[in-house]
Amino acid sequence: MSELRWHPLLEQWVVVTAHRQGRPQMPGDWCPFCALPEKYDVYLYPNDFPAFEGGCDVVLYSPEHTKLPSELPVSQWEKVIDLWARRTAELQADPGVKHVAIFENAGAAVGVTMPHPHGQIYAFPFMPPRIEKELASVGKSDECLYCLIRSKEVENDVRMILKSAYFDAFVPYFARFPYESCIYSRRHAKGLNDLTSEEKADFAGVLSQMRKKYDALFGFPMPLMMILHQNVHFYVEFLPLQRSKTKLKYLAAVESAMGTFLEDVIPEDAAAQLRAV
Ligand SMILES: [Zn+2]
Ligand SMILES: [Zn+2]
Repeated sequence: MSELRWHPLLEQWVVVTAHRQGRPQMPGDWCPFCALPEKYDVYLYPNDFPAFEGGCDVVLYSPEHTKLPSELPVSQWEKVIDLWARRTAELQADPGVKHVAIFENAGAAVGVTMPHPHGQIYAFPFMPPRIEKELASVGKSDECLYCLIRSKEVENDVRMILKSAYFDAFVPYFARFPYESCIYSRRHAKGLNDLTSEEKADFAGVLSQMRKKYDALFGFPMPLMMILHQNVHFYVEFLPLQRSKTKLKYLAAVESAMGTFLEDVIPEDAAAQLRAV
């Protein structure tokens, strides 16, 4: 199984997952998610090759193999959101789980070989360093830093992408990835289980619109990472890897070894383009 190794220079865990090397690439004519014995709409599937013991699920968004997330109807996103909420509550109730990460890696550029629409849920046995750092920053502020970021973006308006009844989508001033964006709950709510059913339905609509925008931007499915944050103030982060129609963003020496991001697209321009599609 996987092994945690402590990196003494960075003071963080490295998860050795060599056993995952044997996990299947997409077989040419067979999909395990299509071969499930029961009929389903959305489905929680335990990962056969977990990075951590116990806590890695695959979330199937649809029974339709070739359906892109951007093509899912809003009603389908509502079902996915309900599953995410239920699983979040279950995992957060486990004292061995220190952080619940709901995310999706989308596209071959992010290493995804299985086209069947799906995301993942990792139940971390430790607090991931990025989250720890973020929470430390949040802890220094008297008012909610997320509420502050959101209200400043709304006031500035130049990086807004869309506003729904309960959510705001924008490119943050401090974006690191090309065409990075986020969806913030307008109300100070911690996570999916703190949203009303009306807010969840509205969130499904915004999620759908944002996925459509990303795939419309260059006319092909945008390789991206989508991450839900349910620590202090609910928000979703989109980290795309395409810096233009023909060029990918690589996390090279400056990013990977120095921890400093070179932003290839001006956030205000990215927002204008995402607004327009
Ligand atoms: Zn399939
Ligand atoms: Zn807040």
